[in-house]
Amino acid sequence: MWANIAFLSGKQLESVYYHVMLNLIIGFLLIIGVISNILFRDRISSLTKEIERQRLLLNDYAMESALFLAIVDMMEIFGKDISVEETLERITQSISNFFKNEIVLVQLFGHHFFQDVRGENIQLPPETFEEIATRPYPILINNLNSFPKYRFLEEKGISSFILTPLKGKRNEVSGVIGVFSKGNKTFAQRDLSLLRMISIPISLILENAELIEETKILSITDSLTHLYNRRHFQQYFEKVLQQSREKNAPLAVAMCDIDNFKFYNDRNGHLAGDRALKDIARFIHHSIKGSDIVARYGGEEFVIVFPETEKETAYRICEGIRKKIEEIKFPGEEFQPEGDLTISFGISAFPSDGQSCEELIRKADIALYEAKKQGRNRVVVA
Ligand code: GH3
Ligand code: MG
Ligand code: MG
Repeated sequence: MWANIAFLSGKQLESVYYHVMLNLIIGFLLIIGVISNILFRDRISSLTKEIERQRLLLNDYAMESALFLAIVDMMEIFGKDISVEETLERITQSISNFFKNEIVLVQLFGHHFFQDVRGENIQLPPETFEEIATRPYPILINNLNSFPKYRFLEEKGISSFILTPLKGKRNEVSGVIGVFSKGNKTFAQRDLSLLRMISIPISLILENAELIEETKILSITDSLTHLYNRRHFQQYFEKVLQQSREKNAPLAVAMCDIDNFKFYNDRNGHLAGDRALKDIARFIHHSIKGSDIVARYGGEEFVIVFPETEKETAYRICEGIRKKIEEIKFPGEEFQPEGDLTISFGISAFPSDGQSCEELIRKADIALYEAKKQGRNRVVVA
């Protein structure tokens, strides 16, 4: 080669020179690359790990703040005068904001209620509830097809889910919260831990909402008959009468009283009297429908309001109830003055008998008095 170089021209020599230099530079750079790779490989790898750790931390932070927001959002309804169903709806929305792409279900035992913001129809069968109630641990299932007992979920296109019980008073299971995925999501233990974490304030909120609802029901009902009490009746009566005035629609009201009830009590005892009172109340309650309501007006007196109903129709309904009560065999009724435990009615109607609640009640009361005077066990219209 050197022999050949000796015969090269100046230009050719220059080209060889550049070629050699270029190779030397490339070689040098390669050596530097290899050396720096050896020297910095560990550093680069630890930097990559650190970036990933920071990314996960950021992700954790985002999840934690979303969880915090969901809890704050839910706590806003704590103690508010809203129904249990509405509370469930709000809670479901808050959890859905957290588990954005999944289907959320919040269900309370005895409420036959499930929630799901995307209109999906997922209802847990009684067996699943029983399983949760008897074995109150959270469930995380990613491989749904290996669990035949959850086939009903697979049929709905669910691929994985997490579920945690809601615990009420004395730590008993009161319901369940579930997050279901249709998108092949692999739930992590961490998702389940977060769901368990939010289940604690959720249980409290729901328990409180149930308590408020119960108190509200108690405040408008009578404890013996479970009918509406007089106070609630009066409010309702005012409201529907106003609507009748506005719509120029008829309305009827009936006062009802048990005949010779003092006699029944004295002869059969107060407990038997209570039982008869409850049975009659239940019967009247089941005999009316729609926007008609019956309330316990006094001791053994009931009042029924029939919105948008003519006097004749109210008469027919009351006459039907009266006949049925006459037919029902109450224990010890054979000792009654007429050999039967019966009821009497007095009916008045808007607008013919009065314009105000007081006037209508007064007219119905006068008609009831007339029914008693005529011999009881009858319906008299004003
Ligand atoms: P009338 O046919 O004229 O209505 O006669 P009555 O005996 O039903 O009427 P009176 O007003 O003299 O007596 C009402 C009775 O109703 C007296 C009371 O002991 C009874 N009573 C009222 N509230 C209750 C209750 O909650 N339970 C029971 N067991 N009895 C009640
Ligand atoms: Mg009576
Ligand atoms: Mg009475």
